[in-house]
This record gives sequence, C-alpha cells and structure tokens, in this order.
Amino acid sequence: MAQKLKIMALGGLDEIGKNLYVYEYGRDIVVVDCGMGFPDEDMYGIDVVIPDITYLTQNRDRIRGIVLTHGHEDHIGATPYVMSRLDCPIYATRLTAALVRLKLEEHGLADKVELVTRSAGDRFRLGDNFECEFIHVNHSIADSVAVALKTPIGTVIHTGDFKIDLTPIEGGVFDFHRFAQLGSEGVLALLSDSTNVERPGYSDSERHVGESMERLFRGCDKRIIVTTFASNVHRIQQIINCAAHYRRKVAVTGRSMENVLKLAMEEGYLSVPKDVLVDVNRIGSLPPERVVIITTGSQGENMSALYRMAFSEHRQVKIGAGDRVIISASAIPGNERTVTKVIDELFSKGAEVIYDRSIDIHVSGHACQEEQKTMLALTKPKFFIPVHGEHRMLCRHGDLALEMGVAPANVVIPGIGEVIELTAKHIRKNGTVPSGRVLVDGTNDEGVENVVLRDRQHLAQDGMLVVVMTMSSQDGAMIAEPEIITRGFVYVKDNAQLIEEMRRVVYESVESCERQRITDWAEIKGRVKSQLSGYLYKVTRRSPMILPVIVEV
Ligand SMILES: [Zn+2]
Ligand SMILES: [Zn+2]
Repeated sequence: MAQKLKIMALGGLDEIGKNLYVYEYGRDIVVVDCGMGFPDEDMYGIDVVIPDITYLTQNRDRIRGIVLTHGHEDHIGATPYVMSRLDCPIYATRLTAALVRLKLEEHGLADKVELVTRSAGDRFRLGDNFECEFIHVNHSIADSVAVALKTPIGTVIHTGDFKIDLTPIEGGVFDFHRFAQLGSEGVLALLSDSTNVERPGYSDSERHVGESMERLFRGCDKRIIVTTFASNVHRIQQIINCAAHYRRKVAVTGRSMENVLKLAMEEGYLSVPKDVLVDVNRIGSLPPERVVIITTGSQGENMSALYRMAFSEHRQVKIGAGDRVIISASAIPGNERTVTKVIDELFSKGAEVIYDRSIDIHVSGHACQEEQKTMLALTKPKFFIPVHGEHRMLCRHGDLALEMGVAPANVVIPGIGEVIELTAKHIRKNGTVPSGRVLVDGTNDEGVENVVLRDRQHLAQDGMLVVVMTMSSQDGAMIAEPEIITRGFVYVKDNAQLIEEMRRVVYESVESCERQRITDWAEIKGRVKSQLSGYLYKVTRRSPMILPVIVEV
C-alpha cells in the first residue's frame, strides 16, 4: 500500500509569523522555514515567540533538512533556538544563508550547524522520499524562492512569501516558466501565501517606489532621512541610487541596517557607487542637502535609531525643521500605535514627515488576489492548502481556489498542529501533533514559563505590595508595626490613610490567627494575603500582587 504524505504547520497559521511547516513521508521529515513571531503587547519582557517544536525534537533522527524560502524573521528567526535542539542541515539561497549565519554566530552555533547554499533552479535530495527544488519568486527581500517537493505520490509546491514583479530591481522576474512546467507535469498540492488575499488586483512593482522616491529627492534642499526594513535590499538600492543621482552622501545607522548593508554588499546584492557612503559621525560637516540617512525604526521600535532620533536620544543625529523624514514601510498589524507615536514626535520636532500611503513610498511584498490566482492557474494543483495568514485570510484564499476550479473537497483550511494527510487521490485531516508558542526573553533560550508571564502581566496592570511582619519566634506575636512597601500600585506619600488602613487589616488578620492558635507561618501569610487583597479590591478595585514576608526575631 502506498504511504501517505503528512503536512503539519507548527506555526504560520491564524497569524503572520513563526512559519514552520513539516512534511513527512515514510521515515523522512523535511521542514520548510523556521520563523519566529513577535510578542503581543501584553507579553511583558518577552522578546521572541517561537513555535513549539516538540514534534521535531521527538523525531530528530528522521529530519533530513530544513529548507528556508527567504531571509525574513518570520521564516528564519527561530533558527538559533531550533538548531540548538536539532541536528540536521539547513538549505537556503545565498542571501538567506548569510543572514542565518549571522544569527547562528550571535548564538555561538555557527560551527555546529551545516548550512548549505543552493540557488533557484537547484534540485537536491532529502532522504529517500523527497527531492527539493528552489524556484525563483519576487518578494520584499532578495533571493526568495518557492520550494517544490517531489514525493513518491506527487509534487507539492510551497510558495513561501511571494509576489509577481514584472519589473524587479534585481534577480529577475518571478519564474513563470518553471511553475507552469510543474503545473503541466501535475502538482499534487499547493500551499500558498495568503497575506494579501483581501486586496484585489495586483501588487505594485518595487520599481514604483523608486519613482516616488525620486520625486521626493528632486529639488529638495532639506536633509533626507529614510527608514525602511533593513532586509529590503532592493528598497535600499533605490534610495542609494537616488542619493547618488542627486549628489548626496549616504550614512547608515541602526545595527540591523548596518549589518544587512554590509552583508548585502559583500554578497553582491547591493551595488553602491564609490564615495557615496559616509560615516554617520561625519555628516555634521556636510550641508543638509548633501545628506541622506538610512535608518531602522520603520515599526516605531523603541530602541531603533529613528525612535532615538525622534526623541533626541541619538548620539549623532538630531531631528529638526531642516529634515524630511520618509517612512518607506507600512506598519505591521499590531505596530500601528508605536509607529504613530514616533510620527507625532517627529512632527513636534518640526520635521516634515512623509508617511502617507497615497505617496507610494512603500509597496507590499505579497501577492494580491490576481497574483494568487495566477499561481493557482500556473500550477493547477489537485489539492489546495492556504497558509501564511490569519484565519479569515486562509478562508478567503480557499474561496479563491474554488473560483479557480479546485474541487471543494480538495481545499483544506489548515490549523496549527493539525496533521493533513494526502494520498494521490485524497486529502483529509487526521489527528494533531503538539503545537503552540514558546516564549523567549533576551537571556533565556529555554522559553519562559507561562506563570512567569502571568506574573509580569499582573505586575504591569496592578503593581505590587510587600508586607513585612516582624514576629516573635517565641510566641508568634507581632512585635512591630507591619511595614508596607508598594511599587506600581499607589504612591505611598499621597495615600497615607490607605496605607494606615492596610496596616490595620494586616494587624487584624494576624490577631485573628493568634486567637485561633494558628502558628504556621505559611498559613498566616496566606490569611494576610487574602484579607488584604479582599480589602484592597473593595476600596480600590485593583488587585496588586501581594507578597507577605515574615521576619522572625
Ligand atoms: Zn517574507
Ligand atoms: Zn512571511
């Protein structure tokens, strides 16, 4: 009997982030992408969210390789965390591999991981059951590929993030021919990028941004500051071209921007005319109309260079009335508030800020409806599985596939951790594997327990209260006034009466313990905590974290 192909998403569904897809046939497992997600606003102190990879660690000896579609964080960001637990090679295109190497180096893993570079068009075997092929696509980062996985029961195409750009800056047009060829040979299943399924029509060409950028440079006598995603090498190329054309020098600030720029130049993805780059420490000696600063911070991140410039915390660059700030990015959903905060601050410093969608200073890197349909038309898949999107997007992408003639029974909307089983004839969901989120803060690669996070949320909402009770070790009597220390709850000086009342509550509960001959410290602490908490909720409607401490003397 023929074996089944299993496809599981451990991330990348019902969200834009932490993409990680598992393909399994017989004894072989191939992983496509290894991304991280960003923490929600209430995940205090959490820097990174990664997929739960229990299923992979349990089957580590069966993993033949991790293939990466492109170098965005939501596709490669979890590699250091995942590679410290798994032992398999990573396959990626040159730029993607270089970005991954940078990450592995930061985590001291560069020597331990086998990183194999492959180009679009290359085919390579992964185990007995998979042959992998990279196919060139357009996206907002160079060197992006789709992955075709040939299995004994047919070919699966996993698009990765893609758009169709007929006039790309570099790297060539989306590989229509190869997709069409595979389509005519027969494609068993297509897993396709759903990000922009709510947008009709076609996405704009990256070249369009260059034209708008050119208009903003022409005749401008101000200093120009542009922020964009560090990884958007093509965008940076166009900014540099504009700068060179209008005889401006380019300074780069922000760690990730500096890193990516250096790497992209070394790898030949970025060509910078001689003498255009200038150290950011030197721009003070140049007239404003001769300067462009390219910086990180398009998402309003509060450690980013743009944020620091806006709030006068940047060492070399102060923003003022003589500046034109171009925000060449759109806010990733969830970041709108932080972005507008920075924009407001820039306005209040007197800068001219160009951020409006209507000026075309940003285009999306993801396929809109007509491009998604084109992908379906070229590959003519038997089965369709929408991925990389929130739930409603997956459903709408499913509808597009129906419109394009895929049979209703052959469209499956996947869920995280669900196992999708395919034979040459049938597709169905069958069971689940462990899945979920692992939260990582800066220092801890092991993941933060949920209880820790809950404490952080609690502290952030209502603050904390320490009650110090000095008790006699002889008879358990309280021998000094209870001391109350608060942080983030109320300001002690303005709330003398409340603090006094709290002391009274503490006294009374200790006394009642004495009356009932309760001598167990833990029990006393528990009573103090619950009575104080009840009292505080009654009078303040808040529930600070209460930590009773008994000092025995
Ligand atoms: Zn991407
Ligand atoms: Zn993505």
